[in-house]
Amino acid sequence: MALNICCPECDEAENLRGYREGEVIHLTCGACDRTWDRPATPRCDRCGGDDLQAVVKAIVERSRGTQLSIVGSQTVHLCTDCDADTLERYHRNRPNPLMPDELPTVGPEQMEN
Ligand SMILES: [Zn+2]
Ligand SMILES: [Zn+2]
Repeated sequence: MALNICCPECDEAENLRGYREGEVIHLTCGACDRTWDRPATPRCDRCGGDDLQAVVKAIVERSRGTQLSIVGSQTVHLCTDCDADTLERYHRNRPNPLMPDELPTVGPEQMEN
């Protein structure tokens, strides 16, 4: 691992163990047994690259009628290679959040008016 990390307790930088669990790496210092967490570097699950951008993505729900409303947002990581088109779309619409690729479908009973 070419990560610049060291123990917050004793500054040990070599004798460290870590395992990844989701978005977090749990680290243990082999010198003083101190444990701590650090965020994992997100990686693209398609190409394995780590050139990702954090993007605010809207959470959209269909409210009454045919109106789509933004009910929240989440941070997603997009790959500059695999998601180039989506990133371009996002940057063009800033500061608006990225809209989901698939919007909730409008039921047939709502299509009439
Ligand atoms: Zn230590
Ligand atoms: Zn990728």
